[in-house]
Amino acid sequence: MDVASWEKLGSIDIVQKDVPALSAGDVLIRVAASGICGTDLHICNGETPHAARKVTIGHEFSGYIEAIHPGTKTLAAVGDLVAVDPNIPCHQCGFCRSKKYHLCPDLRCTGVSVDGGMARYVAVPATAVHVTRGISPEVASLAEPLSCAVHAVDMGALKTGDRVLVIGAGPIGLMVTALCSTGGANVTVAELNDMRRERALEFGASAITTNVDIGGDPTKGFGFDVVFECVGRPETMQAALGYAKAGGTVVWVGVAKPDVTVPVSPFMVYRHELTIKSTYTNPYGMERAVKILADKKVAWDKLITHTFGLDQFGDAWATFKSGAGIKVCVRPSA
Ligand SMILES: [Zn+2]
Ligand SMILES: [Zn+2]
Repeated sequence: MDVASWEKLGSIDIVQKDVPALSAGDVLIRVAASGICGTDLHICNGETPHAARKVTIGHEFSGYIEAIHPGTKTLAAVGDLVAVDPNIPCHQCGFCRSKKYHLCPDLRCTGVSVDGGMARYVAVPATAVHVTRGISPEVASLAEPLSCAVHAVDMGALKTGDRVLVIGAGPIGLMVTALCSTGGANVTVAELNDMRRERALEFGASAITTNVDIGGDPTKGFGFDVVFECVGRPETMQAALGYAKAGGTVVWVGVAKPDVTVPVSPFMVYRHELTIKSTYTNPYGMERAVKILADKKVAWDKLITHTFGLDQFGDAWATFKSGAGIKVCVRPSA
């Protein structure tokens, strides 16, 4: 079968691999929809230390259960449409045993360190699949990024009525916007791209800006209760600290390059009693994400601006890199 694989630095290529054989505890998925993510670009550029060469990319995907290894315990049945959690923890270490499996030092990731869903078939542990009902495969493929947004919003610990700033309205920024606004926060979005700004308004933002002005001294109540940085560039990560009001929380959601550093004023953090948090992947977020997608309180399908067949992967990758869309989706078994 054709798969999109990280073969060499700077390129993702279509190569041939066998349909994967199932090990004990695995299910075989016929992939229906597979999203391209900024992480795939980081992988391609050699900026993801745990990514493995010659691995099929694709960590945001949905598909139909094609086969279940004999003796595997699972609630899913052959034919079910499932969303897949790409993170595979060891289930043995101290982190895994204390409800922090995303921090597992032996965490493997489908589509990063083991073959992923940018292929017609992929084998995953049965524990990783979440059955969906009443949503399309494309929307189901949003469950993984949405689960990361769910974790980010949890980290923000916002309260109803809080003033929230979201910097960057890519897929994750838009998801954070929708989750915060449906949760009763007043959300301002900072974004340069016109289409993304428009989508942010549709997703519940009450104000859009390219140039955030907090209007006064953060110690006198000006600024935002919670700031979500969803870009991952050093300048926006640094700026995020200046937009929080005293006592506020800044959540760095965007993924920076491994060698990037950001200057931080410890005095300002002290004087404003800021809380700076980061988020890593999606602990226990998948089941909630699947429910949120099925509730349809937000037009999640509007995040998917382009769909391609796997035979058009080059076009899909070019469209993604151009920034012309929001979420670019590939349909490997269409
Ligand atoms: Zn992703
Ligand atoms: Zn572990």
